[in-house]
Amino acid sequence: MSTNWAGNFTFSAGLTAHPTSVEEVQDAVRAAESAHVVGAGHSFSTIADTSGTLISLDRMPEVFEVRSGSVRVGAGMRLARLADLLHAAGLALPAMPSLPHITITGACATATHGSGNDIPSLASLVRSLDLVTADGGITTLSRGDAGFDGAVVAFGSLGVVVAVELDVVPTFEVEQRVYQDMPFDALVANVDAVFASAYSVSAFTTWQGVAHVFAKHRTTDTRHDLAWTGATAATEPHHPVPGQPTLHCTTQLGVPGPWHERLPHFRADFTPSVGRELQSEYFVAREHAAEALKALNALAAELAPVLLTSEVRTVAADAQWLSPVHGRPSVAFHFTWQPDDTAVRTVLRKIEASLSPWRPRPHWGKVFEMADPGERYENWARFAELQARLDPAGKFRNPLIDGWFTG
Ligand SMILES: Cc1cc2nc3c(=O)[nH]c(=O)nc-3n(C[C@H](O)[C@H](O)[C@H](O)COP(=O)(O)OP(=O)(O)OC[C@H]3O[C@@H](n4cnc5c(N)ncnc54)[C@H](O)[C@@H]3O)c2cc1C
Repeated sequence: MSTNWAGNFTFSAGLTAHPTSVEEVQDAVRAAESAHVVGAGHSFSTIADTSGTLISLDRMPEVFEVRSGSVRVGAGMRLARLADLLHAAGLALPAMPSLPHITITGACATATHGSGNDIPSLASLVRSLDLVTADGGITTLSRGDAGFDGAVVAFGSLGVVVAVELDVVPTFEVEQRVYQDMPFDALVANVDAVFASAYSVSAFTTWQGVAHVFAKHRTTDTRHDLAWTGATAATEPHHPVPGQPTLHCTTQLGVPGPWHERLPHFRADFTPSVGRELQSEYFVAREHAAEALKALNALAAELAPVLLTSEVRTVAADAQWLSPVHGRPSVAFHFTWQPDDTAVRTVLRKIEASLSPWRPRPHWGKVFEMADPGERYENWARFAELQARLDPAGKFRNPLIDGWFTG
């Protein structure tokens, strides 16, 4: 892997290791002066970068073991494969992000999430993880263990996760409908009701007066129509980004299907989103959703030249120290941008200033400007202590992560 998925940066690693066993992961870590693990390389920042050894787990043997209410999964497995295996076993994840192309461990390490008032991030499904630490040893941390809540969302800075055990639920069916042209004012006035209207709700907007609401409801739940907001139930499929091919999207129009073929917006066998793009996302406490929507809408003219689309989602609170939804049910404001780094960063500074009254937390795998993300986390210092204990020489640090911890 020479660049990340979006192609907006080139990895600076001198060497890429492709271990084929846990022992080879341990050997690669022991042999390296500095190292970092990469998943599917879908993050937009240099969070997985290293000038030492880049450890890719794409050749690791597949591990999938069903346990009681959980599954044990080998690192490196992509969500699409995991979802197929789970569904075949009559099981499901309660949450899926917009795309299944990423690895489960890369997703957990950045607190990747989907949408749903009661749906947590993927990281909060982790029951335990096996971590190869800087000395090449393996530590297993389980829910309830000291430091566990710091170890899941750790962006590879504590070591290489080689397996995770995840909570799972019985498989379920979902119908997806798009309600187009919801007046923006109606979304603001009824934001709680709109996001409570289905199991998983995403509102896409380009801040031009309307939103298109993707509502995914479990077939066993009561369905709440959104026509009362002034929106119209779509009679043709919609892509979240205007003008992109709808063939790339999961089935809409209310056709029932399994959870993993409806909760993500994008199909596993097609390019998700656009391809040449940047992404950013900020989380604020859910009670500020309406005020934050209005604040962002006031920036519409400044966003327009670089924006492809925005997505508004809700995420349940979790206990992970560095999860952007730690301790607060949240609303997340996502932006898909044109691939113009300079212009995007100018706009990001305006967004961060506009959301500042609500102490926004950024998505770790996307681009942001704030230099002090740690100030928004009550357990930041505890995490730094965990890092210092597990990786005293800073083997897994990189310039981006160093910047957050040294200011
Ligand atoms: C088109 C697109 C759509 C997206 N949609 C969403 C979305 O709906 N919701 C959302 O929250 N995010 C979304 N993202 C962001 C994405 O989910 C995150 O960037 C995620 O981390 C990518 O996973 P990855 O496997 O590519 O990990 P990478 O980008 O390769 O790595 C991410 C981080 O995880 C660490 N990591 C990877 N593997 C391990 C391991 N085995 N042990 C320890 N650390 C590890 C890396 O070191 C790095 O710090 C989207 C990204 C794209 C490109």
